[in-house]
Amino acid sequence: MSTIFAKIISGEVSADVVYRDEWVTAFRDINPAAPVHILIVPNKAIPTVNDLTAADEQTAGHMLLVAAKIAAQEGIAESGYRLIINCNRDGGQEIYHLHLHLLGGRRMGPMVVRPS
Ligand code: AMP
Repeated sequence: MSTIFAKIISGEVSADVVYRDEWVTAFRDINPAAPVHILIVPNKAIPTVNDLTAADEQTAGHMLLVAAKIAAQEGIAESGYRLIINCNRDGGQEIYHLHLHLLGGRRMGPMVVRPS
């Protein structure tokens, strides 16, 4: 099933695209959790991390390199940032098209909320 991210990649749905190449598309999150919140998405419709295969190794590694490049473009490489990939229900994944969140521009706080 086609997701909203597939429609953004194809241009059917508009988004604030900050980077695009043969393997990935990156655009600003519509509901940002930080001053910089960008999603780096493979152009190939891979639903979750669980669905990655050996054939996707280059794309998966490329997502990290693109994240670092965009962080530099956004001026947050030195101050720092957080990269997150959510997987399935317990990971909090909402859109079933693999994506890497790039978050920065403020102190990100604890990595996860610990149960009390
Ligand atoms: P996740 O919970 O990891 O699946 O994250 C999905 C992210 O996609 C959320 O942070 C949403 O705010 C974001 N999102 C959903 N629809 C759009 C859209 N049309 N354009 C940009 N970001 C979106």
